[in-house]
This record gives sequence, structure tokens and C-alpha cells, in this order.
Amino acid sequence: MHSTVICPGSFDPVTLGHIDVITRASRMFDRVIVGVFVNGEKHPVFSIEERIDFLNRTVGDLSNVKVIGCDGLLAQCAKDLGASAVVRGLRAVSDFEYEFQMALTNRKLNPELDTVFLASDASYTYLSSSIVKNVAYHGGDISNFVPACIHDEIFNRLRH
Ligand code: ADP
Repeated sequence: MHSTVICPGSFDPVTLGHIDVITRASRMFDRVIVGVFVNGEKHPVFSIEERIDFLNRTVGDLSNVKVIGCDGLLAQCAKDLGASAVVRGLRAVSDFEYEFQMALTNRKLNPELDTVFLASDASYTYLSSSIVKNVAYHGGDISNFVPACIHDEIFNRLRH
């Protein structure tokens, strides 16, 4: 069966942890759509165009991965895109409660939609976009957190 999945997130900005999860998903499924959500609750530092551009420059070479902007309900976007599952990364137990709640809500809204959780490499379990923003804001070294090809742009934008 042909499998299409969606990896949703804010990606503000993309980190090596995100890339690890997307790469793993690309090995498991036929087609991976990375959905960059506008996300009304959060106030992103980077515009949706910038976040999509960063992702295209870092996972664009994976032939079965496509990066798109998304707005609205994930359950509806997944349906519109023909995705049978949502792929989310799990870092620690602390992620679990929220992720479990979202997975069950999405299934309620779209009964055909399952959620698959992937563990990233252990070296990224502490990593989040917020950590990157905080460290860079104070001028700290983020070279182990974000891809080298977009490092300078991210660092210069975030630096206080
Ligand atoms: P959101 O804003 O929806 O929480 P994020 O952009 O922060 O989305 O993250 C997108 C996805 O990547 C989520 O499933 C998140 O759990 C996962 N993720 C982020 N960082 C890591 C990491 N270091 N290891 C594993 N998964 C991660």
C-alpha cells in the first residue's frame, strides 16, 4: 500500500532533532509531507516563508519529502493531502501527555488518521526550537543544534 504521512510542526526554526525525525520517516514511508503550520497560538520568530525555506534547504534532497505551509486543523489538512498518519517526534516522557491528547483528538476528528511516534537519536532528546532561540539570543553557540547551511542566518537573526 502506498503510504503518505504528514510531519506537522512550527519548525521555528528547524533543528537537527526535526531533521533526524523527518529523515527517519522518509526511510519508513513512501511519501512524507512536512507541514509547516502557521499556528495561531504561538508567535513565531521566523515567517512561514523563512521556515519553509530553511526546511527545503535541509531536507530538500530527500526525494520523497515535500515541504508545504499549512493552516487550520491538522486532521483536515491530513485528509486533504491524503495522509494516512501523522508522524511526531518524542523527546521525553514530558512530551507524551500532550502528544497523546493531540493524537486522540485528531483521531476523533478524522477516524482514519493515526499518529506514529518516532524517537530521535538520543543526542537530540534535549533539543527544541525554544532552546535554539534562547541560546542564540544570548550569543551562545548553536552550531550543534541547527544545520550548518542555515546556521549563520538563524544565529544573526536571533542574536540579541
Ligand atoms: P510544535 O510546535 O507542533 O510542537 P515543533 O516544531 O516544536 O512542533 O516540533 C515538530 C515535531 O518535531 C514534534 O513532533 C516534536 O515533538 C518533534 N521534535 C522537535 N524536536 C525534537 C527532538 N529533538 N527530538 C525528537 N522530536 C523532536
